[in-house]
Amino acid sequence: MKNVVLLGSTGSIGTSTVKVAEDLPGQIRLIALAAGGNAELLLEQTRKHQPGIISINDPAKAKDLQAKLGNSVKVLCGNEGLLQLATLPEADIVLIAIVGTAGLQPALAAIRAGKDIAVASKEILVMAGEIVMNEARKHGVRVLAVDSEHSAIFQCLDGKPTSSVRQLLLTASGGPFRDKSLWPKEKFAEITVERALKHPSWVMGRKITIDSATLFNKGLEMIEARWLFDIEMARVGVVVHPQSIVHSMVEFVDGSLLAQLSTPDMCLPIQYALTYPERAASDRVQTNFPKLGTLTFEEPDVDRFPAIQLARRAGEIGGTLPAVLNAANEVAVEAFVNRKINFPQITETVRRVMDAHVIVAQPTLEQILAADAWARVAAAK
Ligand code: MG
Repeated sequence: MKNVVLLGSTGSIGTSTVKVAEDLPGQIRLIALAAGGNAELLLEQTRKHQPGIISINDPAKAKDLQAKLGNSVKVLCGNEGLLQLATLPEADIVLIAIVGTAGLQPALAAIRAGKDIAVASKEILVMAGEIVMNEARKHGVRVLAVDSEHSAIFQCLDGKPTSSVRQLLLTASGGPFRDKSLWPKEKFAEITVERALKHPSWVMGRKITIDSATLFNKGLEMIEARWLFDIEMARVGVVVHPQSIVHSMVEFVDGSLLAQLSTPDMCLPIQYALTYPERAASDRVQTNFPKLGTLTFEEPDVDRFPAIQLARRAGEIGGTLPAVLNAANEVAVEAFVNRKINFPQITETVRRVMDAHVIVAQPTLEQILAADAWARVAAAK
């Protein structure tokens, strides 16, 4: 039985994690849940799973929840609540699925308390991958990937050192604007928010869906892979695979490739992270090859999707640049969703903020957070 703390229980990854816990009642126990703002769903999850402690961002909502739940559950709020949940003595693993950068401090707190962490919030590794991985090594804890691509690579690597790897190959669906004949570059300015929110193969949160349309999601994942697997950017490749069946691959030095495949379902990488190193029996995911038919692969179109190159540059240079890319992108996506800028301006904003940034090499956490704050102001401008 694993005692799991779930930070971000009401979002897309959070609700899938709850499903996994329901699939494996004898193996996974949700001992603490934290939500951003969805008090109704948090209440429902708490009544069903009976965690001893929960947290919600807003103090007023916390008070209201405490009144509804009575004394059997302790209700906390804000960042303080997240930190307390992340360091619970009885926790075996902390799954962090909070949108944006709010997961960084709880992730570090969990590591320092000797907890394994499962990371769904890729921003944590993009911003502060070196610090997080160094802390994890120091405290002898695991950083497990929840992202489907990184879970795939982790499964294919199976403990092999990076010296045996020629390259990691992240697969990308290519997003809703992959087809160049339907969406030539000239038409990108006409892309509406509604159109960008329709992803061909995954149902996900709003931010990540826009990131999948610009390919910034893949860019962030390249940097995430660089830190998670301790490999330089030059050996992190991307191949477009619209069917999203091959979740990623590892090419070894002898030319052999291992890939991890299944029909797309986030419950699978979540379950693997929570049950690792075991594999738990579950009927949820079924893959029927004859039904799938053809799997195709193509080169990413970096001319229409410059996010890939911007991320490669950020990952190669490192320092505070990945945090700047991430923060500028968050602000730009928000502006696009609020119809203040058009689709190509998301990438253009990130490029300009990156160009204007004075990079700090080997930054401290404070310098990373300062670069993040600077980039948000610069991007908004
Ligand atoms: Mg992914």
